[in-house]
Amino acid sequence: MRCILEVVSPQRPTVQVVGRRLDPGDHQLRDYLSRADQPFEFHEHDSPAARVLLARHGIVEPRLPVVVDGERVFEAATLGALLEAWGFSQVPRHAGYDIAVVGGGPAGLAAAMYAASAGFSTVLVERDVPGGQAAHTSLIENYLGFPEGIAGSRLLRLAGRQTEGFGGEIVMLREVTACDRDGDGRVRLTVEGGVEVTGAVVIVAPGIDWRRLDVEGVDVLLGRGVYYGAGRGEAALCAGEDVFVVGAGNSAAQAVLNLADAGARVTMCVRGEALGRTTTDYLVARIEKHPLIDVRLRTQVRELHAGDGHLRAVTVEVVAGTQERKRADRLFLCIGGEPRTGWAEAGGVRTDRAGYILTGPDLLEGGGVRSPGRSTGTHLPSRRVCQVCSRPETSVTARSSASRELSVKARWPHSSPSTASRRSLRRPEDNAV
Ligand SMILES: Cc1cc2nc3c(=O)[nH]c(=O)nc-3n(C[C@H](O)[C@H](O)[C@H](O)COP(=O)(O)OP(=O)(O)OC[C@H]3O[C@@H](n4cnc5c(N)ncnc54)[C@H](O)[C@@H]3O)c2cc1C
Repeated sequence: MRCILEVVSPQRPTVQVVGRRLDPGDHQLRDYLSRADQPFEFHEHDSPAARVLLARHGIVEPRLPVVVDGERVFEAATLGALLEAWGFSQVPRHAGYDIAVVGGGPAGLAAAMYAASAGFSTVLVERDVPGGQAAHTSLIENYLGFPEGIAGSRLLRLAGRQTEGFGGEIVMLREVTACDRDGDGRVRLTVEGGVEVTGAVVIVAPGIDWRRLDVEGVDVLLGRGVYYGAGRGEAALCAGEDVFVVGAGNSAAQAVLNLADAGARVTMCVRGEALGRTTTDYLVARIEKHPLIDVRLRTQVRELHAGDGHLRAVTVEVVAGTQERKRADRLFLCIGGEPRTGWAEAGGVRTDRAGYILTGPDLLEGGGVRSPGRSTGTHLPSRRVCQVCSRPETSVTARSSASRELSVKARWPHSSPSTASRRSLRRPEDNAV
């Protein structure tokens, strides 16, 4: 019988958010809600609509941000508090699973869904909300079966629902910080908040983290006009503004189009000589036609200028050495990413020099001998093809490898307390944080 938990989906009705447009914490909440595909309406704290809404709920001096969900009101709202109130899981229910997946992007979710659908007890641990990079995408147009395209957050929310529909468990806002083996040879993951969980097989799908821009002031202005990522949740608030996007890949191209479609005047800063080298043709064609987009080639952001604690302008430099100061209300940084896999490497998982986890053929050494080490119990999607559409495919391979691994290992009898206590395992209640 399928166990329908349905916490990732269906969506909740639209919630109302009252906050400050340029406050980092308020931005973070909007960003989370956008990436979780939770519909919301945002009201600037001193707008008439905000006043009416707050007055209706008897709030005189609001602690921002305020989230109004039907009759429930959350002041100084955080995503953690909302997820808890909405019944989302932040702690694994069991101490051990057949398959534990690290990372809830397209690769991790696909692996978890296939594992759960094959009848394995499965947990997925995600440090953020599920969706990965794909949740930053306003429209994925190259995914099979969606001729009109689909928002990345919607696609991944559906994937979460499908995973849960097969009984897979999704744990959010918990980072995996270490891995090793327990006395039974199972892979043990240390999860943020003092929790441990084991898997007979662990599939690691941590994707990448945004690469940082090395310009003074970026960190101070984060959320105050400067953002990493494509600004999906911010686009609607950028109409009529002067916006800069740094980057030349598909993610930058999508950000540029999304922001310009929302009515922002967008300058795209590209370090290289041309856009087409790293950007798909259909995106380049749309960018070139868009009246609100100005593409600046051989251009880099050199300085940020703030006023009242918010971004006001940027200085850009073209290769010739000429510098120009330009008004900028917002700056979105889409300059690619790099893996953050130190915790896995420290646990014996092999990575390349850049930190990407070795998988498949990369593990073959010396004429086809599979390298020894921890990787035998850990199957990891590779870096080779970085697109949403390639992720289910790699994950099927990972899941198949995991199935083979499990066929020679004992499956995890987590429903049996006697076995669990015999093995001195931590039960769910031990995992309460
Ligand atoms: C703006 C943008 C637009 C894009 N548009 C398209 C497109 O139109 N079509 C397309 O095919 N591709 C597109 N891509 C690329 C696509 O999104 C990625 O290739 C895909 O998301 C990679 O999936 P992944 O699961 O391997 O990694 P990621 O998406 O990076 O997901 C990894 C997940 O693992 C989590 N994680 C990492 N470390 C840990 C840890 N230690 N503990 C717990 N969780 C952890 C992260 O929080 C993250 O959620 C786009 C990317 C971006 C950024």
